[in-house]
Amino acid sequence: MGILGKLFDKKICDICGGEIGLLGNKKLENGNLCKECASKLSPWFSERRHSTVDQIAEQLRLREENKEAVSEFNTTLSFGESTKLLLDEEKKCFMVTSARNLQEANPDVISLSQVTGCDSDISHYRSELKKKDEEGKYVSYNPPRYEYHYTFCIVIRLNHPYIDDIRFRLNNSDLKIEPPSGVGLFGQSAVTDPEGYARSTPEYKKYETQCSQIADILMQGRLRESDGTADNP
Ligand SMILES: [Zn+2]
Repeated sequence: MGILGKLFDKKICDICGGEIGLLGNKKLENGNLCKECASKLSPWFSERRHSTVDQIAEQLRLREENKEAVSEFNTTLSFGESTKLLLDEEKKCFMVTSARNLQEANPDVISLSQVTGCDSDISHYRSELKKKDEEGKYVSYNPPRYEYHYTFCIVIRLNHPYIDDIRFRLNNSDLKIEPPSGVGLFGQSAVTDPEGYARSTPEYKKYETQCSQIADILMQGRLRESDGTADNP
């Protein structure tokens, strides 16, 4: 077969049996997957290339069953801004999604008993604030002024057939805090511990509290399973 023949060699999806168009192939460990089937995989799943046809078929079967769990899901508590953690406290399950149409997005409904760990990951960087001089050039303040940017992430580790962990941002855009710097009008001195200052602000504390509330709620199921007294204070 010539090179043209090779280029246009049609591949068949090992899941649905459909023909895979040019550039539409998603490789599996021992087969091929079409775009259409790949779009039904969980958004939290990242091991496609190392999965077998059987594993993918099983996931798609569970994802199909998940549609029913989504239709029965009743949100009683939610956290987050753009991406949301939605909880059904009665059924003791949750989902993490930014979708508005839940039926269409089919977010994985996960039982609290599948949670093995929950951590918050708070990261930050600082950027220097500058001002324009007479020539319109950006120059440092004297003394320099900085703004601190904070991101609050939640990492949920799972014992789940096809999801290892879920990581999402609690705050949609960076929390920006500018600690007072330099000597102020009334002679007050600069903040010597700007990060400590940032952590003491109500905005920071609001997200910090949410992080620990989420960990408490998600770890409930695990506590109850390993320790029958967890319900008692
Ligand atoms: Zn397919």
